[in-house]
Amino acid sequence: MTAESVPPTAAPAPTDFIRTIVAAHVAEKRYSQIVTRFPPEPNGYLHIGHAKSICLNFGIARENNGRCNLRFDDTNPAKEDVEFVDSITADVKWLIAGWADHCLGFKPKGTHPAKVTSSGQPDYYLAAVNPGPDSEPFFASDYFDALYDYALELVRRGKAYVCDLSPKETEAYRGAPDKPGRNSPFRHRSIAENLDLFQRMRAGEFPDGARTLRAKIDMASPNVWLRDPLLYRIRHVPHYHAGDKWCVYPLYDYAHCLSDYLEGISHSACSLEFVPHRALYDWILEALDLPRPLPRQYEFAKLVPSYMLLSKRNILRLVQEKVVAGWDDPRLPTISGLRRRGIPASAIRCFVISVGVTTFNSVTDIAVFEHAIRDELNTLAVRRLAVLKPIKLVLTNLTPGEVIECNATNDPQSETPSTRKIALTREVFIESDDFAEFPPSKYFRLKPGGEVRLKYACIIKLDEIVKDAAGAVTELRCTAQLDTRSGQSNADKKVKGTIHWVSVTRCLDAEVRLYDRLFTVPEPGAEEDFMKVVNPHSLDVVTAKLETSLAGAQPGDYYQFERLGYFTPDAKDSTPGQPVFNRTVSLKDTWTKLPAQS
Ligand code: ATP
Ligand code: MG
Repeated sequence: MTAESVPPTAAPAPTDFIRTIVAAHVAEKRYSQIVTRFPPEPNGYLHIGHAKSICLNFGIARENNGRCNLRFDDTNPAKEDVEFVDSITADVKWLIAGWADHCLGFKPKGTHPAKVTSSGQPDYYLAAVNPGPDSEPFFASDYFDALYDYALELVRRGKAYVCDLSPKETEAYRGAPDKPGRNSPFRHRSIAENLDLFQRMRAGEFPDGARTLRAKIDMASPNVWLRDPLLYRIRHVPHYHAGDKWCVYPLYDYAHCLSDYLEGISHSACSLEFVPHRALYDWILEALDLPRPLPRQYEFAKLVPSYMLLSKRNILRLVQEKVVAGWDDPRLPTISGLRRRGIPASAIRCFVISVGVTTFNSVTDIAVFEHAIRDELNTLAVRRLAVLKPIKLVLTNLTPGEVIECNATNDPQSETPSTRKIALTREVFIESDDFAEFPPSKYFRLKPGGEVRLKYACIIKLDEIVKDAAGAVTELRCTAQLDTRSGQSNADKKVKGTIHWVSVTRCLDAEVRLYDRLFTVPEPGAEEDFMKVVNPHSLDVVTAKLETSLAGAQPGDYYQFERLGYFTPDAKDSTPGQPVFNRTVSLKDTWTKLPAQS
């Protein structure tokens, strides 16, 4: 599929400073192809912040007939796991489906294609292929051989040395931002000694922490990242992807620029905290004197939506301490959580793209996200009737067993709306909130002596309120004005309130999960301990009464329960014929009306 044949889901291609740079490089033909990458560490599930990075990197590839490699940045064996590789791969594919799948860079399965010649140069760039059964994502750990060879080359060039300082001493020697560091006493080892020691590090002769390989740059540099940064450390632990072949592991900064290089990446976009690392990124590539063109790093501000806590480390804590029921809990901002909650990929894309790409950190109002969700779902969702907190209403002028068929609209947003039949019976449920015995002024729903329209049916009048011994309302007795039905003589009669309803005898009982914000403050990440601002009422489970047609609802279907919000069947807990529904979002922005948190 070509970029042109993909239906545009987001308005015209966005512009930002990174795209401007890319356009200039395209104009001057600096690279034979624009190649970006999305490089998650497989140490957790992806979240909405990652969606911003995905949409930027895949967006640039898509707009320039390029490709974007999915690469696992897996150089830290301690925290990484194949569970996360699988979830991240699935989430990326879901997020870009129908929008940028044709740009997804994968490699032939099982290949370890980063070949390095004796001169330290790769003998070919990796060829990416579209994902299929015989292809898989890229893994930085597939380059361990190449990275090791490059490290030997740095040693040979006198640009790296083996250092015996302990981690604590290394830290002390590094100095501070306003205080230069001190040279390691091991900095002047001979090349021969460094080669010998590094090879013995790799052979497993030394324990964890005994030695490191460091770049020889400048201990007095104002940029602390250039003060002889570590390139390799000893870790006697197996790696989930590379197996037990290695006991020395490269550090992120060293591995990242070279992985970009090996894959022929042209533009390497990352978030702002990497600005001071850029000099090191360039230094490593230059020190190896690699053939041009070299990849370059560009930094942009992270997405931080209000009321959400991002960062896999923080989300992991919420999962481990059972604040939520797993990484895909619909209250989490993980891609899997958002999907399970019923948020379409297109809504996530529209949101993260609309926020734009800048170099200024800021918090994005969650209302902007909800607006994007409602916008998408308004088009995608089929309308149905459901009652979340029911109260029984008896239409006393209908006989038991009598059924009046009413036409209900499925898709009023469509140019050619379709309808279905729903059954009006003597007993129906209405929302208990739609009735008030002592109504405030301007209350247009059901009240003593008042009239409302039952949507798609007729106007009713409340005659009698029935209560139990404790005084609780158990039943509302009404008269149905059947001549106000569509097509009847009095169909035009106006009342101020219209409420939704479901037949008592023709309905399905179903669990419905109503979510609220997971945190009570707009910036949980700025708190000393975000656990203290977890909203204890973030989940409300009700047994709702649904229109029977909803028995066939499937995960992935989007519904609007009229007047209540958008809902979707839960992908984990629904069973055939018995869906469990998640509320994706309410119909109106209720949050902005909440009182400010103290
Ligand atoms: P986390 O703290 O959530 O683990 P990370 O940056 O450590 O985030 P990585 O797996 O390294 O996670 O991220 C992959 C890519 O996603 C990186 O290029 C990173 O810059 C980018 N990224 C992470 N969080 C955000 C965010 N909130 N907004 C935009 N990009 C992000
Ligand atoms: Mg990380």
